[in-house]
Amino acid sequence: MNNGTPDLSAFEGLDFSGAERHNVVIIGTGPAGLTAALYAARANLEPLVIQGIQPGGQLITTTDVENYPGFPDGIMGPELMQKFEAQAAHFGAELRYGMVTAVDFSERPFKLIVDAATPILAETAIISTGASAKYLGLENEERLLGHGVSACATCDGAFFRGEEVAIVGGGDTAMEEALFLTRFATKVYLIHRRDTLRASKIMQERAFANEKIEFIWDTAVTDVLGESEVDGLTIQNLKTDEKRTLPVKGFFVAIGHKPNTEIFEGWLEMDETGYIRTKPDSTFTNIPGVFASGDAQDHVYRQAVTAAGTGCMAAIDAERWMAEQEAHEVAEGEAA
Ligand code: NDP
Repeated sequence: MNNGTPDLSAFEGLDFSGAERHNVVIIGTGPAGLTAALYAARANLEPLVIQGIQPGGQLITTTDVENYPGFPDGIMGPELMQKFEAQAAHFGAELRYGMVTAVDFSERPFKLIVDAATPILAETAIISTGASAKYLGLENEERLLGHGVSACATCDGAFFRGEEVAIVGGGDTAMEEALFLTRFATKVYLIHRRDTLRASKIMQERAFANEKIEFIWDTAVTDVLGESEVDGLTIQNLKTDEKRTLPVKGFFVAIGHKPNTEIFEGWLEMDETGYIRTKPDSTFTNIPGVFASGDAQDHVYRQAVTAAGTGCMAAIDAERWMAEQEAHEVAEGEAA
């Protein structure tokens, strides 16, 4: 599926004739983007990395990372990402603040616009734009976002010291965030739409063992209550349809993520939820010279270590692909 048609309106009136030109432009700076940057830099490709809205990616909003190999005692997410960044920069990757706001992949060099203003040309592009938190889609959830509604316990948990809070979701993120919230909140209600969790056994056991966490099973959140700040939730038991009010001051949403791939719609093949499709055992997309890595293309594993792995693959794929193009051009030149 090639979602939508490319929107080229952002390119109108923009002059690319004097634009800077790079071998590799990497979009995104989570584990995938920064590993791609490290490998591309060590291959002397002088990559430019456009950092995106949240430099460092999702791990920036995490506390302890216990499952990244090489750190037997765990490491804080932001510290891990600083190390990724320092290592990529050490080998010559250029990291630049900004968002890629539009792309034109119709011909090489590819055209990219940064922050709706700066034109950049790229021989190859590596997409590592990651994924963002999903919300339930309730009107009052959106209205009270930042006023008691949050998708990041690590960022906002401390605001709820001495209060009761609720979190929705049944995966590892919900368990991790619920456990984190117990540091501040007097009680954490964990609301899940089924009666079994999706989370890994170890995270489930930790959450079950914590006396501050109360599980509310088979239940949906149907409304977020409060005028200027959250002061409760309406929840509904999905088996009995019974509704009740849960008086909480904080509401955390931990129901998964969606890939940040909107700007590539119309260019790249994606699945129905927006994950970029790559060719088997590689990071090649449907457009030669465009590679995808990390959570933007992986809806199965979604781990820092797998994202780093596909970032490495993308840089190697890009390097080999460029070498093949050059060899091809030389052969064509000799034949002419
Ligand atoms: P998941 O997709 O694993 O879980 C999402 C949860 O939210 C599911 O329980 C799902 O319910 C529920 N959900 C989804 N949509 C809705 C909705 N509309 N209303 C109510 N509930 C909903 O996402 P996570 O973010 O938890 O985890 C993503 C990946 O990251 C996983 O692979 C996980 O293992 C990994 N991870 C690892 C960590 C670690 O190892 N320390 C920490 C955090 C994440 P249902 O189960 O019914 O589908």
